[in-house]
Amino acid sequence: MTRQFFVGGNFKMNPITRKDKLALVKVLNDAELDPAVEVVVSPPALYLIPLAESIRKDIKIAAQNCYFKDSGAFTGEISPAQLVDAQIPYVILGHSERRTLFHETSEEVAQKTSAALAKGLSIILCIGETLHEREAGETGKVCQSQLKAVVDVLKKAIGGDSSYPKIVIAYEPVWAIGTGKVATPQQAQEAHADIRSFLSKAVSSAVADSTRIIYGGSVNGGNCKELSTLPDVDGFLVGGASLKPEFVQIVNSKK
Ligand code: PGA
Repeated sequence: MTRQFFVGGNFKMNPITRKDKLALVKVLNDAELDPAVEVVVSPPALYLIPLAESIRKDIKIAAQNCYFKDSGAFTGEISPAQLVDAQIPYVILGHSERRTLFHETSEEVAQKTSAALAKGLSIILCIGETLHEREAGETGKVCQSQLKAVVDVLKKAIGGDSSYPKIVIAYEPVWAIGTGKVATPQQAQEAHADIRSFLSKAVSSAVADSTRIIYGGSVNGGNCKELSTLPDVDGFLVGGASLKPEFVQIVNSKK
């Protein structure tokens, strides 16, 4: 099964000025990007629509979060239905910053995933262990339990298993995010293979085979090439380096 290589740029709560944003869009719009790669960028909610309007059409847009209700008295939230209405095709869910700073549980992430899928959105579902958990030998256990919450909810949802093509799993070890400490190729391959084997047991071998599992955590222009050759690494979710021209190099890492 060939899985289309996927590179996501998670801008987080950046850039802070309109000028920076325009410069970033210009770099991407002018770049020669590998047409075989699916490229998705994720700005703060405020910039979703203007970015979708100004960026080249072969780059898709993702929200960084959404709620699980369609509408109502939920101050500060945006809904899957609103994202669909704004023609935003992707949403990042379960990012470790949401889990740690905003106390989102795996069950909430699963509920949001199910609600977003029901509206037709595609999901970048983030999972990953902390340094403490890795040192305790719990990497597999933690990733599996974060993923299991979603698998369990989808089992109960209408058309559950048919949703998987719309999910990209981002393995992002928390200790590697924004630290400059990228996972070694061996660590990344091992975690990705383990996630794939869990999917095979918990869902099906067809889903395990076709689901893209991308790596995130201090990916940059220098380390992307080697990581991109690993058999179970199907792309990247990039934070810091997605704000710089080297994002182009990361998109083109297979070239
Ligand atoms: P980083 O962030 O590339 O800055 O480490 C990755 C992420 O949080 O998705």
